[in-house]
This record gives sequence, structure tokens and C-alpha cells, in this order.
Amino acid sequence: MKEIAIVGGGPAGALCGERLASRGLDVTIFDERLAWEKPCGGGLTHKAIEAYPFLLDGSQPKKIVRTAELISGGGHRARFEMSQPIVIYARKVLNGLLLDRAAAAGCRIERSRVTSVDTAGDSVRLTAGGEQRRSDFVVLAAGARNQLLPETTALGAMDLEVTLGYFVPTQEEILKVKFLKEFEGYLWSFPRADHLSVGICAKLGQNPTQELRGHLDNFVREEGIRMDGAQFYSHVLPSPEAATIRGRRIAGKNWAMAGDAAACVDPVTGEGLYYALRSGDLLAQALLDGQPQAYPERLRAAFSADLEFAAKIARRIFRGNFLGGAITTRMVQMLNHSPAFRDLMRDVFSGSQDYRSLKGRLWNQLGVTFVEITRSLLFPRGIFGAQRAAGREPQS
Ligand SMILES: Cc1cc2nc3c(=O)[nH]c(=O)nc-3n(C[C@H](O)[C@H](O)[C@H](O)COP(=O)(O)OP(=O)(O)OC[C@H]3O[C@@H](n4cnc5c(N)ncnc54)[C@H](O)[C@@H]3O)c2cc1C
Repeated sequence: MKEIAIVGGGPAGALCGERLASRGLDVTIFDERLAWEKPCGGGLTHKAIEAYPFLLDGSQPKKIVRTAELISGGGHRARFEMSQPIVIYARKVLNGLLLDRAAAAGCRIERSRVTSVDTAGDSVRLTAGGEQRRSDFVVLAAGARNQLLPETTALGAMDLEVTLGYFVPTQEEILKVKFLKEFEGYLWSFPRADHLSVGICAKLGQNPTQELRGHLDNFVREEGIRMDGAQFYSHVLPSPEAATIRGRRIAGKNWAMAGDAAACVDPVTGEGLYYALRSGDLLAQALLDGQPQAYPERLRAAFSADLEFAAKIARRIFRGNFLGGAITTRMVQMLNHSPAFRDLMRDVFSGSQDYRSLKGRLWNQLGVTFVEITRSLLFPRGIFGAQRAAGREPQS
């Protein structure tokens, strides 16, 4: 296998291409837009920075955010320092960085739209920019709206989220997430180097667009975000069901999918950048090892079993109740009253806590959490005093 065609030059395709070309393979990346401002928060968690340190070390403009604020449906707020910062890029900058690295490694990069992929013969045939091309293997990394589906099914409505948002030319330092009552999704405000990405995500088909825009506009008003020069965006995002993560075919004899196309997205948080990079990386490694068939199993071992677990609990997190109140509200309140719970959430937010061990950690520290909450409610001055001294002001 010498010639590889990659459809899509986003994080998944670009990193896969870089890895393959740097080991001498003949790689062409086709992207209809190349580096562009894809609708996205652009937030990279610690696990992405740890695996790909160039994302932090390079000179490209980015925002390093250390403080997060959670807001419950009832308006309770909890602000905390994350255990590791989140690095936030404008997507045009991030995609440009990744494509430049791919080109420097030897990839050919073509701005063209791929309209068909035929994997039935010995070699792959594809149509790019109206011209027939061939390759030994094709990587499909064309994102969530990908229509190129050799021998597999499209993601269904239950596997997708709709997102609406604005790019707002203003400066902020704090990352904010707001939950809504009885709502599977959330609102966010992610500060970037020279603007904010503000948005809302929700399961596809569960809420009319008008309702989502109403929530978004309320959020913008409540947070006092000045909207002069704001640009509206909308995009779909995979939010895969457990059965899809477990059962959907993502590879065949001469093709494989990576990133959003393979539904490699956290179904709770919508984090997809790390999984796009990692899946592109794992696919490249499987191809370099001469074992493309090992790719789905390696993906499962690396993260998709964890994402499957997350998919099973996603609905409960957003819609479930705990001690007579919404889980998301209790989460915000516990953040304010329990240092142990706050430590856990600091790790969750920075991406250093996986889902499968989260349950055990929650159970193990349940007793401590309750003692801390009780103490905080009975002796608020003691706890609040300590928090003020540490520069964290709870506002339950
Ligand atoms: C509103 C929103 C907010 C998000 N916020 C975050 C966040 O803060 N952090 C995070 O980790 N994740 C976030 N995500 C998820 C993240 O954007 C994706 O998971 C990530 O971009 C997936 O990368 P990818 O390379 O698989 O696909 P993409 O980034 O979608 O790249 C696909 C590329 O393929 C190209 N393409 C598509 N079709 C064709 C074709 N037929 N021919 C040629 N080229 C084609 C496109 O031009 C594009 O460049 C967010 C998503 C949305 C929608």
C-alpha cells in the first residue's frame, strides 16, 4: 500500500496525513475549503495537549483558559480553576496549523470537493473536483456531514446534535457552560484569542430551532455579551448512541473513517477535537503497521469503549434527578460546597478524568462530599472564608 487518499483536511485527516507522509507514503489530502472557520468551540482539553504538545508550544494565536463557570437551569453559579488549562483555538488557525504540518511532512494538499468514492475494485476510485483519481486506500475524514459511505450507514438523527451559535468579536477570560431544565444539551461561551464562540447544542429533532435560538439569545443577554459584529453559525455534531459506537462499521478492506465521520465524539460534552486527532493518529499507525484491520479494535482500546459508557449515561446526566433536584443543578451546588467534588470536576473539565473510572471515584468520595456539604451549610463562614483566601468565590 503506497498511495493514500484522504478526504477531509480537518484535524482527523490532517494529522493522519502528516503521520503517513512522514513515514514515506504518498498521501493526498482533498479538502473543499482547506483551513476554514468551522463552527466549533475550538477547546482542546489536557489529554489533547498531553498527546500533541505542539498544540500548546507553537506560536499560533490561541487562548489559554484556566477558569470555568457552571450555571444551573435555576441560575446557580459555580466558578472554579481547572486542574489543567483548556487551550482554545479559532478553527481556521488550528486547521491551518495541522495542514501546514501535513504539507511539511510531504502530503499533497488539494483544494477540491470529493463527490464519489468507489471501494469495490482492487484500487479505490474517487472523483475529486470532477476528475477521476485512484489510490490504494482511502481515509474518510470529511466530518459529521460526510455523505461518502462505502459499506456503512449514515449517522441517524439519534446520533447527531444540532448546534447554533455566534462568533462574537469581544474578549473574555472565563469559559462558561449553562445547563437548562429538562434539556439534553447545554449552552457555552468559549473565549478565543480575539473573539468568543457562544453557542447551544441539543439532540437533533428534540427542540424546535426557534426554541434553541430563544435560549441562546437569553444566555447572551444574561451574560451581558455585547453582540456588535456577531456572526451566526449552525452545524451538526455527532452525539453517538452506545449501539452506534459499538456496532457501526468504520473500516473495510481499502477504506476507513476517522474523526466525526467515525462518530468519534464525546456524547456528553461534544468534545471531538481530541478524538479526531487520536483516531487519525491510530489509523495512520495501523496502516503503517500493515494492519488496517486492527484499527477499530485499537480505537476501542484507546477511547471508544469509554465513549460508549458515556453514551449510556448522557441522558441521565442532563435529564436525571438526584436528591430531589436536577443532577446538573446538584452538580453546580456541590461544586460550591464540597472541595472534594470540586477537585473531581476540575479534572473532568480539563479532560483528565475518564467516564468509566468517574463512577468509582464518585462513589468512593460520596461520604466526604456529604460531610463537606453539611459542614459548608452549617458553618458557611468557615468554608467560604477558605475559598475567598484561595481566590474562589462561591455563589450558590
Ligand atoms: C458548534 C460546535 C462546537 C464544537 N466545540 C468543540 C470544542 O470546543 N472542543 C472539541 O473538542 N470539539 C468541539 N466540537 C467538535 C469538533 O468540531 C469536531 O469533532 C472536529 O472538528 C472533528 O474533526 P474532523 O477532522 O473529524 O472533521 P471536520 O473538522 O469537520 O473536518 C472535515 C473536513 O472535511 C472537509 N470536507 C467535507 N466534505 C468534503 C468533501 N466531500 N470533499 C472534500 N472535503 C470535504 C471539510 O471542508 C472539513 O475541512 C464542536 C463542534 C461543533 C459543531
